[in-house]
This record gives sequence, C-alpha cells and structure tokens, in this order.
Amino acid sequence: QARWVVDASGVAALLARQEGWRQPNTAHPITAVWARWTGVKDLDGLELAEKFPHWAMACHGIRATATNHFTGDGWWAWCIPLKGGDVSVGVVFDQRRVQWPEGGWPGERLKNFLMQHPVAREILADAQWREGDVHWRKNLPYSSRTFAGDGFALVGDASGFLDPLYSPGMDWISFTVSSAVKLILSQQRDEEIAPLVAKCNRDFARSYERWFTALYKDKYEYLGEYDLLRLAFLLDLGLYYLGVASQPFKRGKIALCESVFTSPFSGPFFHLMRTYNRRFAQIARLRREGARLQKQNANHRFMFKGYTFAYSSVFPIFGALAGWLRLEMTEGWRSWWQRPAATHQPEALMVPVRRVTPQR
Ligand SMILES: Cc1cc2nc3c(=O)[nH]c(=O)nc-3n(C[C@H](O)[C@H](O)[C@H](O)COP(=O)(O)OP(=O)(O)OC[C@H]3O[C@@H](n4cnc5c(N)ncnc54)[C@H](O)[C@@H]3O)c2cc1C
Repeated sequence: QARWVVDASGVAALLARQEGWRQPNTAHPITAVWARWTGVKDLDGLELAEKFPHWAMACHGIRATATNHFTGDGWWAWCIPLKGGDVSVGVVFDQRRVQWPEGGWPGERLKNFLMQHPVAREILADAQWREGDVHWRKNLPYSSRTFAGDGFALVGDASGFLDPLYSPGMDWISFTVSSAVKLILSQQRDEEIAPLVAKCNRDFARSYERWFTALYKDKYEYLGEYDLLRLAFLLDLGLYYLGVASQPFKRGKIALCESVFTSPFSGPFFHLMRTYNRRFAQIARLRREGARLQKQNANHRFMFKGYTFAYSSVFPIFGALAGWLRLEMTEGWRSWWQRPAATHQPEALMVPVRRVTPQR
C-alpha cells in the first residue's frame, strides 16, 4: 500500500507494459549495439600523431577524455572513455538503412562494422571487446500513452525513450521527475491535482512527439553527409542552448517543469526545426537516388568552439540558417516539388492524450 507509485524502472517500463500503455515508435526503427573495450588507441596519442601528422596538427585537444562520435550513412557511433582506461564504443543504426554484419559473435560484428570507418579503424585496430559486456537493443524508441495519474507517475525511460544521438535521456529524466515531484507535493498540500495530471499527460505526449519530429525523424538519412550534418548540428545544438539548456540557468528549477516544446514560445522553433530537418533528409534522399551520397565529404574539417549562454552564440545559428538558404538555392530546389519525406514512410508517432484522468 502506498499513496504514490513512481515508476523509474527504465526500459523495463513496468507500469506502461502492465497497463498496455507502452507503444513503440515505428517511425524511427533504430538499433544500438555497444561494448566495453580495452586497448582503444588515443586519438591524440603519439602513435597516431606520427602516422598522421596533418591530422594530429589540426586539432589541439584532449579527445581521449571526451565523448567522440563517428558517423556514416544511416548510423553513428560513440566512443566514451571510462574509468580505468576502458572505452565504451557503440553504434546506433537505422534498421532501414544499414545491413548489420552477419555471423560471428556480437562483439566481432560490432568491430567488423566499425572497421569501415577510417578513424574508427585506426583506434580500434588492436582493441578487444570485453566478453560478457556486449549489448544489443533493437527498436529503441517508445513512449507511454499515460505519464501520470492520481497516485502514480512514470519518470525517465519508464515513460519513454527517443534516441541517444543528442543524449536527451538526462533531460527527459529532469523534466519527468520534476513534474512528478510537483504533482506529489501538490497532492500532499491537498490541492486539486486533476488539472495538473491532465496537463502532465498532455505536455509529455506533445513534448515527445515534437522532440522526435523536430530532431530525429529521418535524421539517419543524412548522418553520412558532411555539409548537411554540419548545418543540422549547428542549428540543433544552438537552438537547444538558446531555448532549452539556458532556461534552468535563467529561471531556476521551475524551468524543469516545462518539457521541451511545451511552452507557447516554442511553437515557431518547433516548426523551424521540423522544416530544416525534413529538408536535409529530402536533399539526402535525392542524392541517394542520384548515387551522389558522400560525394562532398572529402577534405572538410569542421572546427567549432561550441555554444555558451552568451548573446554571441546566436551568430553561428544565423550563419547556419544562411548556409541552409544557400544550399536550397544551389541544390535543394531540385526537391522542392517532390513529395515530402513523411509521405514515403510511416507518420511520426502521435501519442494520443487520454481525455479521462487515469485513477489508480
Ligand atoms: C545505447 C544508449 C546510449 C545512451 N547514451 C546516453 C548518453 O550518452 N547520455 C545520456 O544522457 N543518456 C544516454 N542514454 C539514455 C540513458 O541511458 C537513459 O535515458 C537513462 O539511463 C534512463 O535512466 P532511468 O533512471 O530512467 O533508467 P535506468 O538507468 O535504466 O534505471 C532503471 C533501474 O530500474 C531497475 N529496475 C527495473 N525493473 C525493476 C524492478 N522490477 N524492480 C526493481 N528495480 C528495477 C533497473 O535495474 C535499473 O537499475 C543512452 C541510452 C541508450 C540505449
């Protein structure tokens, strides 16, 4: 017996499964395969610096203490140093785009896949995955139809999962936990919580759907395109800093009770992000049809200082918008009259909002 049950069971999603609320996001069929590795070479170490001096001189940083990403057509990989020298290396791929290597142990297949990337090939040449620490998860994204009721709340992965590309997991935890706390405290103060529960269910359903459509839908179409991904990265990250990450710093904890794309001001930004993401996917699709994918990738290097909460951070965003306009004028116009990407594939998952406040 308990007045409140908070489900924080992660991907097990106990309540959502038990009550039949869990729904897979079929518009985004992605798989993750990852392992813990020993013997991964240091990107900035002497061995690779001697072998590739131009490469070493171009970047003055200590990448072995940071998260590094590799990307290719329909996939991306992370490389995260762990305590004690091991490194977590994993791949996330779109099941519609990537043919995963067949045969052999999962670790072997992961290594075989990564060996196609010129940088991953170098750092993993002598690396070995740790037996028993290789993981595989298919059809990653899902969400719950219900997020809270009078007496229960779903938080973190127990309520939904999007895509690990921009690491939204911790943000999602912050928003869902803050809302659950607000709900429980309101009930304990004997306040009327039915409107709060309804708002919570409405907001998280909307947030999940918009977050997915603006950032992740069909993104794997252009993960292997240097110019498209560079523009998307500048816009996605810049707008995230401007509209999401800065809010708790400016407004305090209260901002954590407003999930992404739920405030009235977020509407135009959602439409902007959905539009450029759709357009980049469309342009990549046209390149694919014309066998022109990855033709513009060679000899480019994107060096970027990163974003801060300073006003000057809007300049790279405007620069990227100008870059998008240039792209449309020079190449994108060819696909203006084509059917939009969404009509080729299943619609984004719309999470229906229950009218009746669930009671438990
Ligand atoms: C491939 C991949 C890469 C990711 N990379 C990142 C990243 O770089 N950055 C980031 O922010 N996020 C990342 N995420 C997302 C992040 O891991 C999750 O969003 C986060 O761990 C969710 O936290 P949680 O507390 O909701 O669930 P979990 O961390 O899964 O915790 C749930 C806990 O509940 C326990 N549990 C389950 N059922 C029961 C039960 N019946 N009884 C008792 N206990 C139970 C589980 O054992 C577990 O300890 C990644 C996810 C994936 C799949």
